[in-house]
Amino acid sequence: METETNLSAEEIRSNLQCVEQRIAAASARAGRRPDDVTLVAVSKTKPAEDVAFALAAGQRHFGENYVQELNEKIRIFEERPEAEGVHWHMIGHLQRNKVKYLVGRVSLIHSVDTVALAEQIEKESAKKGVVTEILLEINVAGEESKWGFSMEEAKDAAGAVKALPHVRLIGLMTSAPYTEDPESNRGYFRALKALSDGLYAEGLIVPSGNGFRTPALSMGMTGDFEVAVEEGATMVRVGTAVFGARNYADQKVIQ
Ligand SMILES: *Cc1c(COP(=O)(O)O)cnc(C)c1O
Repeated sequence: METETNLSAEEIRSNLQCVEQRIAAASARAGRRPDDVTLVAVSKTKPAEDVAFALAAGQRHFGENYVQELNEKIRIFEERPEAEGVHWHMIGHLQRNKVKYLVGRVSLIHSVDTVALAEQIEKESAKKGVVTEILLEINVAGEESKWGFSMEEAKDAAGAVKALPHVRLIGLMTSAPYTEDPESNRGYFRALKALSDGLYAEGLIVPSGNGFRTPALSMGMTGDFEVAVEEGATMVRVGTAVFGARNYADQKVIQ
């Protein structure tokens, strides 16, 4: 079992630097520019203090997978000058009745896995007079245990989202299978890139109004982010390699 590690400010700073360097090297191997890839530091289960350390090191994009924990962290950093320009990303499974707590507060919802959820985001966004940017979550490997549309369902789902005036589909997201061998996910990443390029060409994925590179492709975690970057990721979601191992038992907030 993994044990929780509480890293120092210096360790978090050096981890961020190391992950950015690995992103840059993977970008170079693929002939891409390193600033085409946004590092989303996944701070779930970690204390706000760790987020503060990352902010001090210049990190500006943070991912969380539980609505309540995300909102607590947003609240903590809301008025703090050192958090100027921070972007919060919802990356976990989202229930429709929680949508109202996120709309207007997060920069991007990565994990839209049903059309009904997109419709709920539409409803809340219209109420607040905002446009919410989203990704469709794709279950690339068809894993039973995972949320998301199948590759085949993606186009119809994107078409349905296109009809929602307060929801903007800017790309796709996946969590590839957990593996010891990141190479085994290369084919999935490549297939998702092809799918997103196709939907973009058809106008079903549209340019971001929040400055995100489009079509946005959110793929790659601690175990496989370099392969994901080589295959076209524009956002990688990295937790463990930045903040250390997580201990879910210590998590105070579950939903
Ligand atoms: C936890 C999580 C991550 C980060 O995982 P690590 O392996 O710690 O980098 C990325 N994406 C999602 C959706 C997650 O829930």
